Amino acid sequence: MRRGEVLPEGTHLRIGSIWLWCVCFGVASAADPPAGAQSAREALERLRLGNQAYVAAQFDPARNGAARRAELAGGQHPFATVLSCADSRVPPETIFNQGLGDLFVVRVAGAVAGQTVLGSIEYAAEHLHVPLVVVMGHSSCGAVKAAMETPPPAKPDPAGVNLERILSAIRPSLPRALSYGDQWANAVYASVEQNIGDVIRLSPVLAEMGEAGKVILVGAFYDLNSGKVHFSEPVVFRRRSEQVSGGRSSAPVSEAHR
Ligand SMILES: [Zn+2]
Repeated sequence: MRRGEVLPEGTHLRIGSIWLWCVCFGVASAADPPAGAQSAREALERLRLGNQAYVAAQFDPARNGAARRAELAGGQHPFATVLSCADSRVPPETIFNQGLGDLFVVRVAGAVAGQTVLGSIEYAAEHLHVPLVVVMGHSSCGAVKAAMETPPPAKPDPAGVNLERILSAIRPSLPRALSYGDQWANAVYASVEQNIGDVIRLSPVLAEMGEAGKVILVGAFYDLNSGKVHFSEPVVFRRRSEQVSGGRSSAPVSEAHR
């Protein structure tokens, strides 16, 4: 498989409530240690604990106080990047119980990975050395619903060109959604998978950092009712020498925390 071929049929697996990913990539070198892997795991654990605190209504106001603001005036060192939908009900800082300077947040309807979004994530990874990228969808996502219900325009419509750019980024994922159960939620899961695939496919910078273990990508789904965030396993980058034929990976994947 050539680099840049992301999430082909058969490499993303979801079975019932189990949300699995396995993405294959070639890499130039097998010698680079995953320098950011440990810090990424710690960052992910911090998000998990923060979400648990949010669900339990245990907030930390000090993270947004004057002292923290003064502490950050000279520079930022966020520990995770979150690409999230712009929906007013899913602010990452709140649902992960984080404060000023903790998260590098990029928000756009549907959490689609356009060029300016990718540039922002690349900046965080390359220049702020943020080791974890979370791509998060949510239940009852209006952008995904609109993509489900609105066919592509028969001819270009100047009045709708900007919104259509978002919908056209979501639509290709819809056929991959599970056909049973909650169709809307299934479509959101499929869109998150696609958004992650787009991040890797359209950003050589992030693909290379992922292959080198300097950045870890994780999918997430936020439940509006419970307040809980369910994470996927980290995207698996496999070295070229370990890949098997047919594009299907045999790398171990484990159950997501749903
Ligand atoms: Zn949304």
